[in-house]
Amino acid sequence: MTQYPHLLAPLGLGFTTLKNRVLMGSMHTGLEETKDWNRVAAFYAERAAGGVGLIVTGGMAPNREGGVFPGAAGLYTDEDIANHRIVTDRVHTNDGKIAMQILHAGRYAYSPDCVGPSPVKSPISPFPPKELDEDGIEKQIADIATAAVRAKEAGYDGVEVMGSEGYFLNQFLVAHTNKRTDRWGGSLENRMRLPIEVVKRARGAVGDDFIIIYRLSMIDLIPNGQTFDEVVTLAREIENAGATIINSGIGWHEARIPTIATSVPRRAFTWVTKKLMGRVSIPVITSNRINTPEVAEAVLTEGCADMVSMARPFLADSQFVAKAQRGDSALIAPCIACNQACLDHTFGGKLTSCLVNPRACHETELVIEPAVKQKTIAIVGAGPAGLSTALSCVERGHQVTLFEKDNRIGGQLNMARQIPGKEEFHGFVEWYAASISAVGVELRLGTTATVNVLRDFDEVIVATGVYPRDPAIANDGGHVIGYRDVLLGGAEVGDRVAIVGAGGIGFDVAEYLVHEGESPTENIVAWKSECGVGDPSDERGGLAPNGPQPVAPARQVTLLQRKATKIGKGLGKTTGWIHRAALKMKNVQMVGGVNYERITHEGLQISFGEARKNPTLIEADTIVICAGQEPERSLADELAKAGINAHVIGGADVAAELDAKRAIDQGVRLAATL
Ligand code: NAP
Ligand code: SF4
Repeated sequence: MTQYPHLLAPLGLGFTTLKNRVLMGSMHTGLEETKDWNRVAAFYAERAAGGVGLIVTGGMAPNREGGVFPGAAGLYTDEDIANHRIVTDRVHTNDGKIAMQILHAGRYAYSPDCVGPSPVKSPISPFPPKELDEDGIEKQIADIATAAVRAKEAGYDGVEVMGSEGYFLNQFLVAHTNKRTDRWGGSLENRMRLPIEVVKRARGAVGDDFIIIYRLSMIDLIPNGQTFDEVVTLAREIENAGATIINSGIGWHEARIPTIATSVPRRAFTWVTKKLMGRVSIPVITSNRINTPEVAEAVLTEGCADMVSMARPFLADSQFVAKAQRGDSALIAPCIACNQACLDHTFGGKLTSCLVNPRACHETELVIEPAVKQKTIAIVGAGPAGLSTALSCVERGHQVTLFEKDNRIGGQLNMARQIPGKEEFHGFVEWYAASISAVGVELRLGTTATVNVLRDFDEVIVATGVYPRDPAIANDGGHVIGYRDVLLGGAEVGDRVAIVGAGGIGFDVAEYLVHEGESPTENIVAWKSECGVGDPSDERGGLAPNGPQPVAPARQVTLLQRKATKIGKGLGKTTGWIHRAALKMKNVQMVGGVNYERITHEGLQISFGEARKNPTLIEADTIVICAGQEPERSLADELAKAGINAHVIGGADVAAELDAKRAIDQGVRLAATL
């Protein structure tokens, strides 16, 4: 008897059946743009073999003007069809099903040739769209229908028509972007005409035995978005037009409310999909921040949807469904919703991967295969670098002993998990614990590894991490503590705090200090209130009428840095704005371009610029030092002196700009070579 009877139940669609209720949601990985179609096929085939019910590909442009950027992958020519065929064949060989997403970006296309309903520039693009005339609209419909036909020719089991997240079809639906007065704008009937026509024409072109998913924006989270009555009317029309399934889109890309970041509560938006249940007759999928089988099962049990979409969780673990089927959910590598290696890469023009699983999208290049010679391997340090290296070494057949001087594993992750909004790090550490125990890593906690012990191993890996940098600011009796004292040591912190250093840890410490009580990430109602999420039944777009209602900060915090650049510039591309906005809501003062002159019992004396002008006192009861870190290399140095050739990874190797992503990637890549 499975623990997940709803999740693992098949879903009949009439002409075909999906083997379970798990959809791997669409993600732009950048793999198609490499033009290495075997690599694309390997990525999807591994997920198909892992048991997912239906895969949706990254968005494929139906024409040049609809591409997210010039040169974005599409399906235009016979050669394209042959390439896509490599992917669909491999997925089918692995007993999977796959639908191709047709994504027309409209005014979100990063191109001067972008098109839209009206020439209204988006706040996230420099290019105003060209307003389409009647012929132009007809061309877009025909191109989308043709893309569906080509997808069928390429062997796909269906298509997903992207109608949400503020893309082209969504842009026609709301007056925010559609200012037309012809038959494509104005009344609801006119605004809905394009998406309905697209689905009708696609269905007419592909016949009955082909899946058409329509991704429909359930809550736009922008001013002047759709009402929920409009959403329901559209959904019914889309069903009548011939869609097989309706998937949920949450929020436009330009929305100023986070929808998938780690601070968003799990399943924060399934309530909005639930409102559509029973209003249409075709299956409905829900989405966003669902990352465990337990959460997915609960969502289905509560009748929020017929099926669950998860996207990033399939980067973190291709075997998500297979492990759930085996009852091994504790061994599913968790997506912590950090965006660091997926969306941040995509928006930085890099290939997608995953912080937790560096093999994601690198399946053909980073191969963990049985080692030619089995070795004894000592790894010192059970932070993310050491833990990931240990798992990959064991996977290759090596015998691993993991030394950790602390009495628990996790290293710096144990600080991250203290931060309100970063609760996913608990599950991350728990997954490491379950995984190393399951594969038989010999864990020696509370043990300082000595050179004498280490010399007996075939390979030694030093993953001893970092220690905090001391900025050596003169102190005349002020209360100064380090970030570790705050996050791990339970140190007393006063009501007025100055934080020295505004990197990732400075931001985290500020977040920690302005909150008290339950984290809003653990409470959907509180989170919605803090972020200004309302109900589209009450307010267009689902924005709360009174905007965000943050709880008053627990402390008065000032965050400082020496650089004159924008504070938080180095944070993640897709999450930095969320961290900055969260601290601003809590009245955190951000001061850049400072010199730290002196700490006194009154606070922190600073001045500005090279000329050390404008001496200013930041009144503070406590000064918290978050001034970066230095590599902890004492063991590495001792080993070198003893002539032992150790591998040094993670923060012990390079502390600057260290993050778990780099540390894990480095460790797994090393393991692949030993
Ligand atoms: P960091 O990001 O390098 O920031 C260090 C901060 O200390 C900077 O603001 C720097 O700014 C300041 N600083 C450096 N040397 C100083 C000195 N001698 N005196 C005074 N201030 C000094 O390091 P971190 O905050 O310790 O974070 C470590 C790593 O963990 C980062 O690479 C980060 O990516 C990662 N992390 C990421 C997140 C995340 O949300 N993604 C969260 C936590 C940590 P100035 O030099 O301008 O003063
Ligand atoms: Fe999830 Fe982070 Fe991996 Fe992206 S990089 S899939 S958000 S764990």
